[in-house]
Amino acid sequence: MSAQPDFKGKTAEGYEIYPQLEIPETLAAGPGPGNTDARVLERYAAAGCADHMQADVVRGMKEAKYMLRQAFGTSNAYTYAVCGTGWSALDTAFTPILPGDSVVTFVNGTFSGIDDLNVRLKASNVEDLAANPMDPKPVNVVTVNVPHGQSVTGDIVEAALAEHKPMWAVMAHWETGSGRINDLQGFNDACAKHDVMGIIDCVSSLGIADFDIDDYPAVTTWASCPQKGILGLPLTYAPISFNDKVIDLIKKRGCPSYEHHPILDGKHWCIADGEDVETAAYHRTHSGYAVASFHEALRLLLQHGRAQKAADYAFYEKGLRKAVESMGCKVTSNMTSLVVFNLPDEFEGREKELVTGCREQGFAIWNTLSEPAQIRIGILNQLTDAAIGDIVGRFADAMIRLGAEVDKAKVLEDLNTYLSSRS
Ligand SMILES: *Cc1c(COP(=O)(O)O)cnc(C)c1O
Repeated sequence: MSAQPDFKGKTAEGYEIYPQLEIPETLAAGPGPGNTDARVLERYAAAGCADHMQADVVRGMKEAKYMLRQAFGTSNAYTYAVCGTGWSALDTAFTPILPGDSVVTFVNGTFSGIDDLNVRLKASNVEDLAANPMDPKPVNVVTVNVPHGQSVTGDIVEAALAEHKPMWAVMAHWETGSGRINDLQGFNDACAKHDVMGIIDCVSSLGIADFDIDDYPAVTTWASCPQKGILGLPLTYAPISFNDKVIDLIKKRGCPSYEHHPILDGKHWCIADGEDVETAAYHRTHSGYAVASFHEALRLLLQHGRAQKAADYAFYEKGLRKAVESMGCKVTSNMTSLVVFNLPDEFEGREKELVTGCREQGFAIWNTLSEPAQIRIGILNQLTDAAIGDIVGRFADAMIRLGAEVDKAKVLEDLNTYLSSRS
């Protein structure tokens, strides 16, 4: 017999338990995660209990793989998804970097900063790790720092690769910490020119921007996440794609991970010897619930259309940007899923207060996680006039609470004029 759901206290055997966990519905209007579509949740709950080798679970994984190749715009055989979050895919992307490998990383915000840390952990030898276990500084990794709020340009990449001639280079496509788009074409061209293997963190751009990774052949590895462009929370799968160059390197040198081994992990997705095969080989106990919901998230993206979705993000971001600018804020980002901005001068220093107040009311916006203090409002899966109106209205209320003189009715009227310009 099970205890009542609201039971709190000691069980018959003396264990301390808590009432069932209730999590409220909030408006997830930050850099991520985005609001999960009801269809994705419905598929999760509707899936039957089936093991990781059951025919429909495996078929779902194969179909997800085929849909992922379209989402990425690639014919790379090693395209699948890693269990976990964006960092799980990125860890898989960096695992082929062995101790002593030379790497140049480009850092212009929180997330590329963490990518750089992970690369340094991987490229360190035992002495490097012992010297600074949590934050090793191997001489074979060069970190190129670009100020917060600026993009990594092709010139910056070209200059660094020409000087250091590394084996690998790593960059975030869209740096979510500051909302900046980095120069993917420039990165690819510099990698091609200097024969460098490029790794791209596309956590924030896949499923939002419309691009084909096969147009950037010097980028050998792409890693994304389940909760930004591909709206697949409950936590499921982080998309990844490797081209043959990096797979051949792994075949030659090996790779020190089981869980995040690019070739071994691919076997369960029915990829063997660089080809799609009929049968899955056990790698781990994939969840049928997770497969079903991820599959639905991919169907949603492709049904919407990559180009249409990218256009929708650009349109709604512009509406939100104009609205916050009309309230005196200064926008410094150029991503289309996120607006990053400074408060008007007289409210400088009160970013945290504003964000905390909003979050307490279920309006989940964010401040920046590293200096300087800025506000971030995202529109992941909020691509309707009503949703953008709601976000703008709630932010106007927050500004008024802070003491700003904002004419909310006028802000919303201007937004509506802009939104109705579309059709
Ligand atoms: C969100 C994000 C990550 C981390 O993704 P998780 O799903 O939190 O693991 C990494 N890189 C970038 C650019 C991101 O935006």
